[in-house]
Amino acid sequence: MKMIQDFNFKGTKAIVRVDFNVPLDKKTFVVTDDTRIRGALRTIRKIISDGGACILMSHLGRPEGRMEKYSLKPVLPVLEKHLGMKVLFADDCLGESAINMTKELKPGEVLLLENVRFYPEEEGKPILPETATDDEKKAAKAELKVRQKEMAKKLATYAEVYVNDAFGTAHRAHATTAVIADYFPTEKKMFGFLINSELEAMDKVLKNAGKPFTAVMGGAKVSDKILIIDNLLDRVDNLIIGGGMTYTFIKAMGGRIGNSLCEADKLDVAKAVLEKAKAKGVNLLLPVDGINADKFDAAAETYISAIDDVNDGWMGLDIGEKSIKLFEEVILNSKTVLWNGPMGVFEMDKFAAGTTAIAKAVAKATEKGAFTLIGGGDSVAAINKNGLADKVSYVSTGGGAMLEYMEGKKLPGIVAIRGE
Ligand code: AMP
Repeated sequence: MKMIQDFNFKGTKAIVRVDFNVPLDKKTFVVTDDTRIRGALRTIRKIISDGGACILMSHLGRPEGRMEKYSLKPVLPVLEKHLGMKVLFADDCLGESAINMTKELKPGEVLLLENVRFYPEEEGKPILPETATDDEKKAAKAELKVRQKEMAKKLATYAEVYVNDAFGTAHRAHATTAVIADYFPTEKKMFGFLINSELEAMDKVLKNAGKPFTAVMGGAKVSDKILIIDNLLDRVDNLIIGGGMTYTFIKAMGGRIGNSLCEADKLDVAKAVLEKAKAKGVNLLLPVDGINADKFDAAAETYISAIDDVNDGWMGLDIGEKSIKLFEEVILNSKTVLWNGPMGVFEMDKFAAGTTAIAKAVAKATEKGAFTLIGGGDSVAAINKNGLADKVSYVSTGGGAMLEYMEGKKLPGIVAIRGE
């Protein structure tokens, strides 16, 4: 596999899939968080400083056909500011203007193509009326798959080299994230710096973790996290479970959970996790106390109780102080920590203490020499909110992609280049 740091782009055009799916202000369309744009800069700079030309393609949002509110135009000034240069923009990715602009692109220049999802071919998901029959859906999908290949093939004619640096969409088998790679020889396709560092961080945790290895899993639902939990049980020494999914476990163990979040159809799944942890000798820690509220509201009345003794009509919305102490101790004694998902409803200040404490403990463990990897939008938000992003080892940019990689799944965007 070609590595970007070893490749000289001099005199070549590279087509680069980036993830510029950034949040925009609803009224002004100004980019409100440029993390993803910054994530792509190293790759872009390498290509142009080698003397290559850089054609950028990305999606933004979930448009159905061409919809101006999903235009990538707002990204342009932010990119220009960071690169300190003019960036060209083609208001389409497949039309005449794109073809001409890519042809005329000179070494050292950067061109951004308009949203690739303006074409349903990108995702291969047909836009159909709700009344469409199953047969019609199937036929439309098959036809679109053919057009997806055509789209990828056409985009591939714009450049001699393909670089994928869009980790956030690496779990999607789309025209620009995976299919396009088929149209480049092995020595002319590679990952960008961002994907390389994401893979390095995740592989370190999955294949080469310093021990003790602790995974901290939070968030709302067991069903969203069960596959990653199952895969991690083969690897970790400690598994800390917090957040809303706690209560499905507590219920499965016979506790009283009041109105707390519970997936009644996942009690067996929770029991199986408890049994597997025992069989594997994994130290599984659940919260011992919780903050209970009389309603799901920032102004709710609250009281603290044992985690398995929530009064009828009340719901647990954060972990309590005893749990924080317990979890902190385990985290601080770890050499590897993976954290995904909040400990409570951290969007409301009243129920944010547990998540904030975990964010701080992870930063402290890093200071003590542990390798710490944070993934998932909410844990990343908690780390950022507490100004700790540069106090942990790695903050992943791809929530869904990271989860799937950690579940042990093969990501189409990764396989397309690495072959496994
Ligand atoms: P996820 O996307 O699965 O990581 O879940 C994140 C969401 O879980 C956040 O919006 C939290 O507010 C929510 N959450 C965390 N703890 C609880 C809880 N105890 N009860 C209800 N929701 C929770």
